[in-house]
Amino acid sequence: MSQYKDILAGNGLPETVTSGGTLAVHTPIDGSEIAKVHQTSAGDMAAVIASANAAFRTWRSVPAPVRGELVRLLGEELRAAKEDLGRLVSLEAGKILSEGLGEVQEMIDICDFAVGLSRQLYGYTIASERPGHRMMETWHPLGVAGVITAFNFPVAVWSWNTALALVCGNAVIWKPSEKTPLTALACARILDKAIARSGAAPEGLHQVVIGGADVGEALVNSPDVALISATGSTRMGRSVGPNVTGRFGKLILELGGNNAMIVAPSADLDLAVRAITFSAVGTCGQRCTSLRRVIVHESIRADLVARLTKAYSSAPIGNPLDSGTLVGPLIDKAALERMQAALETAKGDGGTVHGGKPVTDKVPGGAYVEPAIVEMPGQTDIVREETFAPILYVMGYSELDEAIEMHNDVPQGLSSCIFTNDLREAETFLSAVGSDCGIANVNIGPSGAEIGGAFGGEKETGGGRESGSDAWKGYMRRQTNTINYSRELPLAQGVKFDV
Ligand code: NAD
Repeated sequence: MSQYKDILAGNGLPETVTSGGTLAVHTPIDGSEIAKVHQTSAGDMAAVIASANAAFRTWRSVPAPVRGELVRLLGEELRAAKEDLGRLVSLEAGKILSEGLGEVQEMIDICDFAVGLSRQLYGYTIASERPGHRMMETWHPLGVAGVITAFNFPVAVWSWNTALALVCGNAVIWKPSEKTPLTALACARILDKAIARSGAAPEGLHQVVIGGADVGEALVNSPDVALISATGSTRMGRSVGPNVTGRFGKLILELGGNNAMIVAPSADLDLAVRAITFSAVGTCGQRCTSLRRVIVHESIRADLVARLTKAYSSAPIGNPLDSGTLVGPLIDKAALERMQAALETAKGDGGTVHGGKPVTDKVPGGAYVEPAIVEMPGQTDIVREETFAPILYVMGYSELDEAIEMHNDVPQGLSSCIFTNDLREAETFLSAVGSDCGIANVNIGPSGAEIGGAFGGEKETGGGRESGSDAWKGYMRRQTNTINYSRELPLAQGVKFDV
């Protein structure tokens, strides 16, 4: 624990929080135990949910711009804490410091967005068919939002949900990944500072519950949790989805991806290689939007693979806290084993593997690995799975239609892109017959989205949308209002019912 103590202390995580608990926290940097935190017991959940509902009943009546002021203060506190929290993200999730800091910047950005939103939350005014009537939509707070998050974006996903949920008038209960509870406790502390400064927030407005699937399930199965926003694997979504819809709860699912890039003959290959390397190798392949498949025109396939293998060999692997490192560790040894098994299967399917070997001489104890490029004869079952590791499958195509078909022929539908300088190809990719994903880009890789757009994907990615655009509507309930200011009572559709 000792060598990382300063990072924990920098985030105000005292001994009492980080020792004596039952949940051991390990850093992927070297696999060592860095803390033991207290888990929330399933028996405590009823009280947590009850106090969140009590807070909601007060918070829903606080004017939205006043709620926005709390989020503005959260953004200020995050600015002050950026360096410390970014380091903690690197320590606990293993991403390089620049990405840890980027994640905190994303939190600041969504706070700014949500503050503006707090003076909007607008509904339509709709033309009524009846004289002397006005029709409009009003958006109301929903209740308690249960936010379940994954290890790989341990803080940003919380902020996307929480900044919006708070300005929308909801209370929040956050269940972070059991692999990253420290960043969650640090965020809760930062939000508590903002709450103390704002003076407007009721007790219980934001609570963190620590533990595994059973703690998540207590939120999922409670009729008193109005919204579940769950980010993680499709496996998790298969359990959470039916349980929430079975009780008619509201649901936002943000699940696994299997993101692809089509590289057309006219593509700027220098740009494509840079985009591929960042999207496939960055975060050690552990983003939901990581690039996992390249579908390249046969005429440039050999050239692209040669350039990629060269670029890959110059990406420094090592301790994510060291400046200069571009590829940190996988989250744990189990992830490394899953990657090695996937590579074996791909080889069995006729794939040629470049790289992919475990790296044992960098930081003892960590699951470091060379990112892999796998030339595949076709899109076999293993390619259609999301293996959460830096494996990039490369497949060839001859006609764009064929490339788009291959692109869409996976169960997931998160992020996608095409590299081309041909307008017809670009527009076809973005059209109704093109990419079937929630995110589709031209000459930009699939990962590293800005917060201003709605984020999420189709098919087994779950269909949810978070962050920008009108994703806030998922955190509110819509009410249609009709007001009669006439002295008559005309019925719609010309119905007569006079007694
Ligand atoms: P995971 O599914 O193992 O865990 C995610 C969260 O769900 C954790 O907090 C876990 O405790 C909880 N959980 C698991 N089973 C549950 C259940 N039955 N009921 C309630 N809660 C449950 O995922 P992970 O390994 O932490 O993260 C990696 C996965 O997340 C990848 O598949 C990645 O693509 C996906 N992801 C998706 C997005 C997105 O926005 N689409 C973002 C980040 C990560």
